[in-house]
Amino acid sequence: MPEKKPLSLYIHVPFCESRCHYCDFYSNTNFSPELKNRYTMAIMNTIAAPINREEYLIKSVYFGGGTPALLGAVNIGNALDKIKSSYLLDENCEITLETNPNSASETDFISLKNSGVNRISVGVQSLNDDILSQIGRSHNSTTALECIDMLSDSGFDNLSVDLMFGLPDQNCEMLLDDLDKITTLENKISHISMYDLKLEPGTVMYNKRNMFSFPDDDEEADMYYAASEFLAQKGFEHYEISNFAKKGFRSVHNMNYWQSGDFLGFGASAHSRYNNKLFSISPDMHLFIENAEKGGTIFTVSNYNDVKTMADDEIDEVYIIMSLRTSDGLDISRLKKPDEFLNKASRFLNAGMMLEKDGNYRLLEKSFFVSNQILSYLI
Ligand code: SF4
Repeated sequence: MPEKKPLSLYIHVPFCESRCHYCDFYSNTNFSPELKNRYTMAIMNTIAAPINREEYLIKSVYFGGGTPALLGAVNIGNALDKIKSSYLLDENCEITLETNPNSASETDFISLKNSGVNRISVGVQSLNDDILSQIGRSHNSTTALECIDMLSDSGFDNLSVDLMFGLPDQNCEMLLDDLDKITTLENKISHISMYDLKLEPGTVMYNKRNMFSFPDDDEEADMYYAASEFLAQKGFEHYEISNFAKKGFRSVHNMNYWQSGDFLGFGASAHSRYNNKLFSISPDMHLFIENAEKGGTIFTVSNYNDVKTMADDEIDEVYIIMSLRTSDGLDISRLKKPDEFLNKASRFLNAGMMLEKDGNYRLLEKSFFVSNQILSYLI
């Protein structure tokens, strides 16, 4: 029997209690219990596998958002049951749910654990209450730490925390203080994602950017490298530009993205890669529900039929950009046109910013902070 192909599933839940001031993700703050149920049904309708179930093995499922915990433990459990009856799940399938510190109770977490969720990613962002208030988060440092305790008490041993740097009035000491608190929580946290604040047009912070005092580029670089060094000392591997994990706790789901694996994304604004096509569902939850209620599959509720199959150049570009984000790097034998990459990469090899060993190319950690410039040159 041929080996099954790996596949990941993403479910987008576009509900948030309030809009954080820096966020440009698709989400809504106006939703009723009925709407949440209809949205879940729409997800379940489109999840029913339109692909050959026997051909694929699901390596990861990720409920992202928005704030997926707001969908409620019963709805998440129903969606997971549908996934389990529609696809073949790997016995070690990673099932992640994102939450904010104040979006679910201990009872919810226990039910989620019983439904099969085995990894939780908590949006902490900072443990400084002034900063949390400036960026419009609805929790404070106390609720964040209480949530981590609650998750641990509910039996979750694969816990990830999202933190941000480059925030208003933040300095290196404050970031290290956050990391110190997070990493000394009796080893409860096994994974940390640390993102640089990007001011996206249209957000509250972008519109009021002159009212904030942001660290400059040099200060941000100092924060990034100081945090990386600190986390290395605490036993976290810097395995991707923005991600750190204890041994055995890399994110299976995100590794699949970075290795250009296939994934199907369900729900309004969700993206997919399948059959060498990159396609997405429109960021309109009402339209998504309407189309799903008419019996649509992921291929008919998205623009799958309108997008072209990726050309070799595009397949290479995506693989270069994604794989070089990781400490595993790029396998030259996977490129369809390796010569173009090799010509450009020599510049960074000679400058000591990239390493090559047996056909594997990777950026050194010291190049991570300027990776955007390197990657845009390489493609
Ligand atoms: S909770 Fe997350 S998705 Fe919702 S507004 Fe805040 S950052 Fe954006």
